[in-house]
Amino acid sequence: MLAALEEAYLSGKIERCCLQVTVSPGYLQRVKAIATGVCKQIPLGASVVADVGEVGALLEAGLDRVGLSLDAVNEEIYQRVKGGDLSAAMSVLEEAAHRYPGRIVTHLVAGLGESEEEMARMMARLQNWGVTIALFAFTPIPGTTMAGEPPPPVDSYRRIQTAQYFIVRGLASVEDFAFSRQGRIVSYGLPDYELRQILSDGKAFETSGCPGCNRPYYNEPPSGPLYNYPRSLTHDEAQRALDAALSGPL
Ligand code: SF4
Repeated sequence: MLAALEEAYLSGKIERCCLQVTVSPGYLQRVKAIATGVCKQIPLGASVVADVGEVGALLEAGLDRVGLSLDAVNEEIYQRVKGGDLSAAMSVLEEAAHRYPGRIVTHLVAGLGESEEEMARMMARLQNWGVTIALFAFTPIPGTTMAGEPPPPVDSYRRIQTAQYFIVRGLASVEDFAFSRQGRIVSYGLPDYELRQILSDGKAFETSGCPGCNRPYYNEPPSGPLYNYPRSLTHDEAQRALDAALSGPL
């Protein structure tokens, strides 16, 4: 299995590999064993639940990056969806990002009931800490407790992707954004022609996260709508995504 991974990497079929693990007895040991056994050239990540010491041990074992997923961006939703304490999770994330610059990533899930403002402000905070942000759209999965909940509206997701793109690239600051009373983004603090120019290549709507991670169809069916494009957008796709992002009172 590890040999097949190495062959896929060396032949250019994959750019990185990521372990999506669930918490069970000894799971960090198993991640470490894979990190030790896999070809060191392959950028290998893992999304885990760990304290700062364990993060260090995983990086030491050979992981390129460690994912500490927040998923939810406010206390109430975090408690409801993950059953824990967001502030505590953020403390671990901040400390890990401080100790291991450029090697910590987190996942944020849009559509759990947060506002666009909460999402944008959280992204700005994480960016300040140097945490890589991977954005996901909530996806209802049959058989799970949230199977009946809807995914986020596409236009809202496009605004959040736009906010992330601007924040991460330093093109605009969240302090320059304006929000409605309901927390919807109504301005990025840039003139319309500039927004269109920056967004016209569609890059803002591609999958975000670790370099080379495109996780195709991870949070949507192949029939679409594609929340995260795992590839470059066509001209028409970029235009539609841009129109959705800029729809409404911007
Ligand atoms: S962004 Fe991709 S590679 Fe990075 S931790 Fe998340 S799923 Fe893994």
